[in-house]
Amino acid sequence: MHYIILDLEWNSAYCPWQKGFLNEIIEFGAVKLDENLKEVSRFQCFVRSKLTKRLRARVKGLTNITNDQMRSGISIEKAIRDYTQWAGEDTVTLTWSNTDIYVLVENLKILMGKETIPFLYGYVDIQKYVQNRLGVTGNQIALGTAAEMLNVNFEEFAAHRALGDSLCTAEILRRTWDSERGLKGYVTDATKEEYYKRLFFKPYIISDINNPAIDKEQLRCRCPDCDDFMGRKTKWKYKNRYFIADFECKKCGKQLLGRLRFKKTYDGVVISRSIIPPKPPQSEGTPTDNTNETNQTN
Ligand SMILES: [Zn+2]
Repeated sequence: MHYIILDLEWNSAYCPWQKGFLNEIIEFGAVKLDENLKEVSRFQCFVRSKLTKRLRARVKGLTNITNDQMRSGISIEKAIRDYTQWAGEDTVTLTWSNTDIYVLVENLKILMGKETIPFLYGYVDIQKYVQNRLGVTGNQIALGTAAEMLNVNFEEFAAHRALGDSLCTAEILRRTWDSERGLKGYVTDATKEEYYKRLFFKPYIISDINNPAIDKEQLRCRCPDCDDFMGRKTKWKYKNRYFIADFECKKCGKQLLGRLRFKKTYDGVVISRSIIPPKPPQSEGTPTDNTNETNQTN
């Protein structure tokens, strides 16, 4: 079994048959590691653009890839073929955030008419792993930031070039490695159709109260004092991503406002719920306290 850390460089170019811009891959860089994270081999190639002869100034500045280097590259078809052969089969591929995976899927689809990534078996978003290991919550951190936190000399690895970034990521992986659990719990099976369905699923806020994804039981609200279900006095109104209705507790007579938000995710529905005293009509702010999130898995 091998771990492969893959990094891509790409250039935004207009694609006439898509009538839109595509992040077209211009370089592959990857490093293959054995189960002890020792380097086994490296892969690097430039990819010749099908869409443009010139790289964007921003891309040239960031990557130091020249137009000549890009033009001297191999076709995307050959790059995918060579890479697939180099990578082999019993592998777990790691990328820093899954952006490169989206770019790969788009390139394969738009430039080659393929639906899946031929060399992807197990997959890990290494950014997530490293952030968890470092205890960094919230925003996604850049590779350079993680390198800095771990005293890895980012510049030494020819920063912002595909192979350099892969080697830097390999070093970060070694320094954050969980020697007991390894990548347990982080590996996704990318050979299943479901992997792509999940990848492209866009979570959304449900705006129709009759949407079948909403479990009607979840529309009931309990009195915070009596813990009994309250009676709903008005129809549900949808406003600012929330369903709102007036409630009254039959026991204590308390008048309260129920605010519910249903977010449809790939795995189910995440519910945000708050039971608050009715507000004066002009204020429509989002209450920060007394809001609970629950998962309603379908
Ligand atoms: Zn009550």
